[in-house]
Amino acid sequence: MADFVGAVDQGTTSTRFMIFDHGGNEVGRHQLEHEQILPQAGWVEHNPVEIVERTNAVLQSALNSTNLKASDLAALGITNQRETTVVWDRTTGRPLYNAIVWQDTRTDRIATALDRDGRGDVIRRKAGLPPATYFSGGKIQWILENVDGARAAAERGDAIFGNTDTWVIWNLTGGVNGGQHVTDVTNASRTMLMNLETLDWDDELLGFFGVPRSMLPEIKPSSTADGFGSTLANGSLGGEVRITGDLGDQQAATVGQVCFAPGEAKNTYGTGNFMLLNTGHELVRSEAGLLTTVCYKLGDEPVTYALEGSIAVTGSAVQWLRDQLGIISGAAQSEQLARQVEDNGGVYFVPAFSGLFAPYWRSDARGAIVGLSRYNTNAHLARATLEAICYQSRDVTEAMSKDSGVALDVLKVDGGVTLNELCMQIQADVLGVPVSRPVVAETTALGAAYAAGLAVGFWNSTDELRENWNEARRWDPQWSAEQRDAGYAQWKKAVERTLGWVD
Ligand code: ADP
Repeated sequence: MADFVGAVDQGTTSTRFMIFDHGGNEVGRHQLEHEQILPQAGWVEHNPVEIVERTNAVLQSALNSTNLKASDLAALGITNQRETTVVWDRTTGRPLYNAIVWQDTRTDRIATALDRDGRGDVIRRKAGLPPATYFSGGKIQWILENVDGARAAAERGDAIFGNTDTWVIWNLTGGVNGGQHVTDVTNASRTMLMNLETLDWDDELLGFFGVPRSMLPEIKPSSTADGFGSTLANGSLGGEVRITGDLGDQQAATVGQVCFAPGEAKNTYGTGNFMLLNTGHELVRSEAGLLTTVCYKLGDEPVTYALEGSIAVTGSAVQWLRDQLGIISGAAQSEQLARQVEDNGGVYFVPAFSGLFAPYWRSDARGAIVGLSRYNTNAHLARATLEAICYQSRDVTEAMSKDSGVALDVLKVDGGVTLNELCMQIQADVLGVPVSRPVVAETTALGAAYAAGLAVGFWNSTDELRENWNEARRWDPQWSAEQRDAGYAQWKKAVERTLGWVD
């Protein structure tokens, strides 16, 4: 049997391909960024063709650099930025429009209207989601209403929809020549179009957004021996490999962090932050501003649900310091700059660039920097940016303990920002619980590999996967309780200042 499993992680800022061995250790990777297209305030797009090119390039180069062949891969898993919406023509293979990214707020009118006439409550009940610009339904509607010929192409059955998992799989498995039009339950649970109980597209929800059912991919389990098709013999891997795992990036990270028991949670720090709490087979409805979502479905086993706290802007606030303000030259430099000061000097930064997600769900919020005095410097702003990442996570952990009644005793973390030692120390300080990072920090790709490998018997059980998890680093809280409470109270005041900024 082949000794390795591969995973494509089609993320918001980049696409990477990683290869893992049976112990869950990384044996190779390649990663390429793609362009963030920002045509106007609030709009964020990606070029779907560039994403497929990047995917093919990383597949090919990671395999070459490890001297492996397609036949060394027992299976392939896919994980992806969720909600980001691609509509393309199945007869030409060409996108009708750029991918509309999850952070994009152009559909705020569509989202707000849903709460004016009761449709919002139906979406909450059936899909587990509050109406928001974040999810795919409104983005599909926008394309159908605003792109010439899109509605007619959809009605003819030519225009089809997918999140980037579906788009990448369709291309890897043949494109116009028989590409598979498929997705998994976790991705489908982020569209506002799937019923969380039936795990199928829901006609009432489709009607809210005017989306014909024929546009939608077939929904499969996240890990399935039937598979999502195979790569092509003459494709970028140079051989046929079965795709047997597919799940949204945050659910994949939950699997990669082996949160298989109810009550286990992880927090991923990337472009945004996403905390997921496994709630088992029970569908828990949030009262505190969290989402109810599918955590994973492994083959024929019953589905596992999660409560999720999604934060739109965390690592991307660090990118903003780099790209828009130019006060750092790379993300890692945020740590050096913030270390030049002892504390935030009274400055709080609420990066509500895309409104506020969990637990507030306010699309009328916009960013604010408050508490400035003449004494403040770039270093205070860098420190306030790292603190914002941590305070937003505290807002979510507070909501989780309200909804679940379980207080956190340790927070398992992963993602790009966790390389920032200072930020993780602040996180432990702000929460008052230890923060723990595993050896394999690429839990998203690892989780997709696990889903794919479980389907083909490369791994036999989730218990076997648990043994692969090892702690690499732990941060313990150092602040006093008074310091923690005072800081959090100021943060809440700062958040208030951002609400209702736009109509
Ligand atoms: P994604 O999967 O969302 O593309 P990653 O997990 O690759 O995200 O993390 C990338 C994000 O992490 C970027 O927004 C970047 O600004 C941030 N980041 C990376 N390294 C650091 C660091 N040392 N300190 C702070 N932020 C960082």
